[in-house]
Amino acid sequence: MIIAIDGPAAAGKGTLARRLAKHFGLAYLDTGLIYRAVGMAVVRADGDPNRPETAEKAARALKPEDLEAQDLRSDAAADAASRVSAIPGVRQALLAFQRKFAKNPPKGAKGAVLDGRDIGTVVCPDADIKLFVTARVEVRAERRFKELRERGLEAIHGRVLADMKERDARDSARPVSPLEPAKDAYQLDTSELDADQAFAAALGFIAANHG
Ligand code: C5P
Repeated sequence: MIIAIDGPAAAGKGTLARRLAKHFGLAYLDTGLIYRAVGMAVVRADGDPNRPETAEKAARALKPEDLEAQDLRSDAAADAASRVSAIPGVRQALLAFQRKFAKNPPKGAKGAVLDGRDIGTVVCPDADIKLFVTARVEVRAERRFKELRERGLEAIHGRVLADMKERDARDSARPVSPLEPAKDAYQLDTSELDADQAFAAALGFIAANHG
């Protein structure tokens, strides 16, 4: 069983993906972390995440343990990720890693949940279940703002909203694998839902659509 979950930042994908993986006994891959790891590797190597040669080299050299680095949750990593992820050679280099995880999940799991931007459209177009999780940008920025504050980080509300809009625009406008719902994806708007309600809605869809 493969579940593909796509959507913009802070829509609730990660929480939902983790809960679905636990519920069905599936492995979970947060593909955003992969792009974040490549983005930070490039920043460390030469400071400019827009440079294709360095980014492609970093993507080809990526090892599973690189996903455990401490700095990947930062806004700097998110920004670098959304820049390297627009480079076609980077996406190409990371495709095999993601598909292998989906087809042969670790620890003998009987399937996988992958979340990202292009899982249902490009990485796993034959996934059994495709969810596109969204929420209004103001709601997503508010969630992100609270999360940063809870982690003790300084955050300015207007800045968080502006960064989120900028990242959404970059992810949606890029020519390769833009952020968009697969034609057969179930669209779940979590603007008015808490995590339990989003999980219940996803389970309802899966029960009705997975034989
Ligand atoms: O999901 P997360 O916010 O961690 O992703 C960081 C960035 O990585 C996204 O803004 C996007 O540019 C990129 N990404 C992508 N394709 C994926 C997952 C993430 O382009 N499948």
